Amino acid sequence: MKHALFFSLILLIASGLYASTTPAAQEIYFSFEITAKSELQQLTRIVSIDNVRGNTVYAYANPEELNELEALGYEIIKLPHPGSLYEPRMAQTIGEARQWDYYPTYDQYLTMMYQFATDYPTLCRIEDAGNSVDGRKLLFAVISDNISIEEDEPEFMYTATMHGDETTGYVLMLRLIDYLLSGYGFDPEVTEMVNEIEIWINPLANPDGTYAGGNNTVYGATRYNANWVDLNRNFPDPEDGPHPDGHAWQPETIIMMDIAEANSFIHSANFHGGAEVVNYPWDTWAVLHADDDWYIDISRAYADTVHLYAPAGYMTYLNNGITNGYAWYTISGGRQDYMNWFQACREVTLEISNTKLLPESQLDAHWTYNKRSMIKYIQNVYYGIRGIVTDSLGNPLDAMITIVDHDFDNSEVFTDPDLGNYHRMLSPGVYDITVSSYGFIPQTITNITVVDTGATRVDVELQEAQTIDITGTVRDGDTSAPIGNAIVEIMDSVHTPVQTDFSGAYAIYNVVEGTYTFKVSADGYSTLTEDITVTEDNHIIDFDLFAPYLFWDFEQNDGGFTSNDPSGWQWGEPSAGGITAYSGIKVWATNLSGFYVDNAHWYLDSPAIQLGNNPMLEFYHLYNFEAGTTMWDGGNVSISTNGGSSFGLLTPVGGYDGNISALGEQGYGGTRDEWTLAQFSLESYKNQEIVLRWHFGSDYSQHNYYGWYIDDVAIIELVGVNDPPHENELILQQNFPNPFRGFTTITFSMSENLKDPILKIYNLKGQLVKSLTSFPNPSLGMIEAVWDGKDEKGKEVSAGLYFYQIQSKNYSSEIKKMIYLQK
Ligand SMILES: [Zn+2]
Repeated sequence: MKHALFFSLILLIASGLYASTTPAAQEIYFSFEITAKSELQQLTRIVSIDNVRGNTVYAYANPEELNELEALGYEIIKLPHPGSLYEPRMAQTIGEARQWDYYPTYDQYLTMMYQFATDYPTLCRIEDAGNSVDGRKLLFAVISDNISIEEDEPEFMYTATMHGDETTGYVLMLRLIDYLLSGYGFDPEVTEMVNEIEIWINPLANPDGTYAGGNNTVYGATRYNANWVDLNRNFPDPEDGPHPDGHAWQPETIIMMDIAEANSFIHSANFHGGAEVVNYPWDTWAVLHADDDWYIDISRAYADTVHLYAPAGYMTYLNNGITNGYAWYTISGGRQDYMNWFQACREVTLEISNTKLLPESQLDAHWTYNKRSMIKYIQNVYYGIRGIVTDSLGNPLDAMITIVDHDFDNSEVFTDPDLGNYHRMLSPGVYDITVSSYGFIPQTITNITVVDTGATRVDVELQEAQTIDITGTVRDGDTSAPIGNAIVEIMDSVHTPVQTDFSGAYAIYNVVEGTYTFKVSADGYSTLTEDITVTEDNHIIDFDLFAPYLFWDFEQNDGGFTSNDPSGWQWGEPSAGGITAYSGIKVWATNLSGFYVDNAHWYLDSPAIQLGNNPMLEFYHLYNFEAGTTMWDGGNVSISTNGGSSFGLLTPVGGYDGNISALGEQGYGGTRDEWTLAQFSLESYKNQEIVLRWHFGSDYSQHNYYGWYIDDVAIIELVGVNDPPHENELILQQNFPNPFRGFTTITFSMSENLKDPILKIYNLKGQLVKSLTSFPNPSLGMIEAVWDGKDEKGKEVSAGLYFYQIQSKNYSSEIKKMIYLQK
C-alpha cells in the first residue's frame, strides 16, 4: 500500500493539479444513525446523503457541512472514502481503453470522444459544452443520421458520473457511443435508433471529481466537484427553489442547464453508483408524478431486463431493483427532478453498481448486465403520441400538449419550437389531448388510442385567436386628473408594459381574449393590481389610482423603519434568489443577500404613525419559509398603541396561512414567490398613534430559505367611508422622513368648518422659525406641507430639534417634534 500511495503522489505532482488540500481532507465519507426517516427532510440539505439502510445514513460532507451536522448532535463514524478503496489499473494506450476493461486517462478520454466524430462524421459530432471548475471539458457525443440537420425526431440524453467517484457509467457510456456508431448499417435495431432519434451522450459530467487524483488516474476520485459541491444537489428544485443547497450554481450545473434549455430533450437518465436500483421521480416530495404508472413500467422494464443478463442478486435493491425517489430517501436540488419539473423531460436516476469505483475487471460484466436495458430505455421515445403543431400557414408553433384529466405538476410537454414537433410518451390507453399556444385557439383532440407497437401520430393546425386592442385612461381617483407616465402592465404575458401619455391615455395591442392581472403604477400613488377579463365588449379599461396618505417605497431611504437585530431585517437592493423589488429597486428583507439563520426573532418596527378616521394598512410582500406539514418558520404583523412598549397581533384581510411553530402565533408560512398585496384594517385604532411591527421567527434548524421581503408600505384612508375630522379638529401626522436632510413632508387633515391652516415651526427656545400657508397637494382630505429646513429669510436653520403645529382660527393641533440634520 505504501507503494501505491507514493505512486499516486507522483501522478498528482506530475499532472500539475496537486492542491494544498487532499480530497480525503476535503470530502469525508461517513455514517450516522437517525431515529426517524422524517429527519432526512432537513439533513439532506446539510450533508450529501448517499444511501439510507434502516436507520443508518451514509453520507458525504465537506468539513463545514460536517460541523453543521455535528452541531445538531449527530455522532458520525468516519468511513474509508469510496474513491480511494481500490487503485484501478489505467489504460496504457487508446487501444487498451477501447477494450472497455480499463479506465481511460483524461487525455485518452478526450481523444476517444473526438475520434468518434472523426470516424463517423455523418453520424456523430462532439458538442464541447464548456469547462469544469478546473478547466476540464464537458463533452457530449451527439448521434443521429443527418447529424447537421434538425429533424422531426425525439431528443434523448444520457449522462454519467456527475458524482465523480461513481465511475461505472463513465466507461459504459463510452462503450455505448461506440456500439451505436459501429453498429449503424449493420445492426437493424441500432440503425433504426440512429435514424429515428437524436441521441446525446455525456460520459463524464464531473471530470474534476473523477480525476481529482490527477489526469492519469481515477484513484482518489471524489463525489463533489472541485469547489466541494455535490452537483446532484445543486439544481433548482421544484419545492425549494433556485438554490436548495445554498451554493451558487456550479459551472458544471450551468452547462447542464444551458444544454437542457437549448434542446428539447423528452427523455433522459443519469448514471450513478453506490446502489443497484432505478430511482424514479420525485425525489423532493411524496406526491407521485402524473405519469407514475408509466414511470413504474419503464423502471420495471429496465430492472427486469437486467435480471435476464445478470447473476442473481444484481439490481434487486428495494422493490426488486426499482424505487420511487422520495420513498427511498428525499433529496433536494437533484438533476432528475430539475429535468422533470423545469425541462418537461422524463428522467430517472440509474444506480448501476454497489461499488462506486468499480474495479476495471468488472466493467465488461456490467456492460453485459445493462446493455439491453440501456438500449430499451432509449427506445421508450418510440411510444406514445407524437406530431407537429403548426399555424394555418404551416409555421411551427411553440405549443403545450396537455393530457386531459391526467397532467399536473408540470407533467405537460411542449413542442420543439424549431420544427413544432412534440413527443408525449404514454402507457397504452385512450387519451384526450389539448394543444395550446399563445395567440391561438386551443384545440382538444379526443379518443386517441396509444398502443405498444409505436407512436400514434396527431398533427395539429391551430387557428389564430381573435385579438383585441385595449385602450383606457389612468386618473387620480380623488381629483379625476389624468396621470401621465403611469405604467400599465399585463402580468405574466407576452405584452411589454406601456406608459400613459400626458392625458393619462394608454393602449396595448393584440391581446387575446382572456382574464389577466393588470398592474398599474405611478409615482406618488399606491400601485393597483386587478384581475380583469378582456373581451370584445370589454376593451376600454380605465384605472383610478389613489395617493396613500402615508407611503414608503423605500427607494430614497429606509422610511425610518428600524430592526432589533443588525443581522436581520435589512434595507436595500435584494441580491439573492433572483428576487427583485416590487417597485423600484429597494425593499426591506430579512436577509437581502441569502438565507435567514436559525433561532431568529427579528422585528422590523415602523416609525410612529398618527392614524386618521378609517385607516387601512397595505403592503406588498413575498416570502419563503421552512414548512412541511408543520409551518416551522414564518412572520406576522403586530401593532402597538403605547409607543412600542407592547404589541398585539394584527390579522390580515383573509387571515394568515396558519399557526407558525417558531412564533407560537398565527402568521404567514410556507412560500409565496410572487409579490402579493397584504391588507389589514386598522379601524380599531383610528385616530391613535401607533407603531407597526413585522415579526419574523425561525426555529432551531433548517435555514435554506430566503425569508420575508416587504415593499410599498402604505397607510390608506378609505375613500367613501372616510369621516371628516370632527368639528374644530386638526389631525397632524409625524413628518417624514425624520430625521431629515433637505426636505421633509408634514401631512395633516382638518374639519370642514376650519379654514386657512397655518403650519408653524418652532425651535427649542420656542421661537417661530417658519410659517407655511401654501399647501399644493391636498388629497383624500389630507393636506401635505413640505419644509426645506429654511427660515423666513431663506437661511438654512441649524441642526437640531424642532417643533411643529397646525393652527386655524383659534384652534390648533397637538405639537410634534422633528429633527433636522444639516446638509
Ligand atoms: Zn450518485
